[in-house]
Amino acid sequence: MSREPQAEAVIDLDTYRSNLEALRAAAPGALQMPVVKADAYGHGLAPVARAAREAGADWLGVATGAEALALREAGDTGPVLCWLAAPGADFTSLAEADVEVTASSAEQLAEILSGSTRRPKVQLKVDTGLLRNGAFGPQWDLLVEAAVQAQSAGRLEVTGVWSHFACADEPDHPANDEQERVFTESVEQLEAAGIAPRLRHLANSAATLVRPSSHLDLVRVGIASYGISPDAGLQHGVALQPVMTLRGRAVSVKRVPAGRGVSYGHTYVTDRETTLVDVPLGYAEGVLRTASGRARVGVAGAQVPVAGRICMDQLVADVGDLPVARGDVVTLFGPGDDGEPTAQDWAEAAGTIAYEVVTRLGGRIVRTYRGER
Ligand SMILES: *Cc1c(COP(=O)(O)O)cnc(C)c1O
Repeated sequence: MSREPQAEAVIDLDTYRSNLEALRAAAPGALQMPVVKADAYGHGLAPVARAAREAGADWLGVATGAEALALREAGDTGPVLCWLAAPGADFTSLAEADVEVTASSAEQLAEILSGSTRRPKVQLKVDTGLLRNGAFGPQWDLLVEAAVQAQSAGRLEVTGVWSHFACADEPDHPANDEQERVFTESVEQLEAAGIAPRLRHLANSAATLVRPSSHLDLVRVGIASYGISPDAGLQHGVALQPVMTLRGRAVSVKRVPAGRGVSYGHTYVTDRETTLVDVPLGYAEGVLRTASGRARVGVAGAQVPVAGRICMDQLVADVGDLPVARGDVVTLFGPGDDGEPTAQDWAEAAGTIAYEVVTRLGGRIVRTYRGER
């Protein structure tokens, strides 16, 4: 085995911490909850969580209870909130691990209470218009009623009330104002019923960047903390730098004549004599196959096309006459400092969003960390 990985995702934790600082400056009055679900958006849960706390993260947010327990196993002892649980979730372990959980309905609140040996800390989620998770309309009335009863019986502590935007990456979308209005009303209803939680929160990355009216007590920052804009067209003044660089080392280099088909199906045909380089990263690592024939990669400061189909373990780049040798580094995406494409470029090539480009990474990928303290 060579000591250098043949393919790796390099995660720059200095960059991650400075993104969090920039986001904190963008929401100065609010607590910060970096979101580290989905293995920290493909960046690796434990090292990213540690770096977040080093940068002063007040909270960490994850989707599932299993992710919250993984944070505890990794040694994190700070405030953690999770928000996605199907019936049968292990709320006992979460309460014992001092993880705060989210109730999205009166039914779910009952499950949380019946599963808890100690008094759980619960945040209430109101659905203000995403129509996904959370208590909607009359469900909210029932949840408020159930929470008031349980709290006055001393069976739980309601620590927060929150919701999630549907269209925050489109600042002018009328749903944003409407969701904020419904949220304010829902909080007032809760307060009138006798519960005034310490934390009210609504903002994701996009709202943190462009919608100060939604910052309230806490902001939940996901994609922006990894240096990726929630939407390529979103105008904001916050300096964000991509945290991840995905790269591999050329495993074979060959000179081929014009008119030769490349990779499965021969969908790409060389239009001149050229050099082809084989890079050991494929769809098993989460490199999106739908970017075949459209994505570009960075080599020696230039961008060159991916030639034909992305395979399970490898892809081929057409480097033209660039002097590339076996073992040279080929960068699929990164911050763009060396002229390489970004995750956003790959998203456009694959017809998806940059969130998917980074969170899909897995398989045999080795993560290498820079800036670990
Ligand atoms: C994923 C998620 C976030 C973070 O969203 P970004 O757009 O990545 O900032 C915030 N809140 C909830 C409930 C989420 O599920």
